[in-house]
Amino acid sequence: MNAALKPVASPHVMNTYGRLPIAMSHGRGCRLWDTNGKEYLDALGGIAVNTLGHGHPKLVPALQDQIAKLIHSSNYYHVPDQEKLAQMLVERSGMTNVFFCSTGLEANEAALKLARKYGHDKGIERPEIVVYEKAFHGRSIATLSATGNPKVQAGFGPLVEGFIRVPLNDIEALKKATVGNPNVVAVFFETIQGEGGVNPMRAQYLQDVRALCDQRDWLLMIDEVQCGMGRTGKWFAHQWAGIVPDVMPLAKGLGSGVPIGAVVAGPKAANIFQPGNHGTTFGGNPLAMRAGVETIRIMEEDGLLENAARVGAHLRARLEKSLGGHPGLKEIRGQGLMIGVELNKPCGVLTQRACDAGLLLSVTADSVIRMVPPLIMTTAEADEVADILLPLIHAFLAE
Ligand SMILES: *Cc1c(COP(=O)(O)O)cnc(C)c1O
Repeated sequence: MNAALKPVASPHVMNTYGRLPIAMSHGRGCRLWDTNGKEYLDALGGIAVNTLGHGHPKLVPALQDQIAKLIHSSNYYHVPDQEKLAQMLVERSGMTNVFFCSTGLEANEAALKLARKYGHDKGIERPEIVVYEKAFHGRSIATLSATGNPKVQAGFGPLVEGFIRVPLNDIEALKKATVGNPNVVAVFFETIQGEGGVNPMRAQYLQDVRALCDQRDWLLMIDEVQCGMGRTGKWFAHQWAGIVPDVMPLAKGLGSGVPIGAVVAGPKAANIFQPGNHGTTFGGNPLAMRAGVETIRIMEEDGLLENAARVGAHLRARLEKSLGGHPGLKEIRGQGLMIGVELNKPCGVLTQRACDAGLLLSVTADSVIRMVPPLIMTTAEADEVADILLPLIHAFLAE
């Protein structure tokens, strides 16, 4: 291992990330090159952001055209591509209306505000929202309060109140935690938890929660910021369970790297916000909207949903074949090109070792190797990921 590859802080940039001492210079497809000319295979995708990889030959000219025409105009006026992207999201989700913002936490913040106002509109003055253990929803005060990770919350109290926390995949626990509570307005979770360690909600659980929300008149709010936008092989990960949520925050992969967030709402939540209730200056700006429109268009043109499902299954099979039955492996989880490999001990060091070996990935929840590569990844590239990663894991588990 290259001893230089340890996190190093910058002199004037706040030290919020343990950054490796390399800087990316440019990219093409699933490859990145750092400023020293070293090449990397990208299984991180900018943390599930670079849907179309780097320098996509169809995306680049579209964004160049948009930058030359108009980057920003404000929400005082109509933005035609907002309407276009909203329609594209509505058609693919089976929902009805969209609010645009610029990040994942903003999308979740809007969802939380929707849920609270949904309650207030029904006469509930102290609305409560069900959230989950190990959840990650962002780092604003409200979204870190909804997050189920004490490390994210430490030092930022008092937290926002009005959350009830339950375990994953346990419908009885959800019923028990909310029994006789008239203040509950919504249930809020990720279909597949990302930062929490690639933890999927089971299809049966999703269906049971959908039914319970209908029965109790709660909003079903599903954070698809990381697992959505085609990553699992369907547009949205909850669609594997055949359900439709009432509120769905999106961000990360929606703009292929251009900052963008969105909250998609179904009929129950579509008209809660009225003029003056919510807004954001950058939200829905022409550049971000063009990025979203082109991302979806190119994904369909290039068959990237099918590709994510196929290449993801291939990579997973390679990992399972090599690691299956190994006492150091706890579980391989995920769907499509969202894959988590949980080991039986903390393995953060593998981020650096993989980077050193020319492979970008991340380790989350201490012991879960997470891969969320661009959806353009080929089977050959997935094989290359496995060829670099598997020896590193085997060596690490033998230590
Ligand atoms: C990344 C992430 C967020 C936060 O998104 P930001 O753009 O970093 O604010 C929220 N929810 C989930 C599931 C995420 O993965």
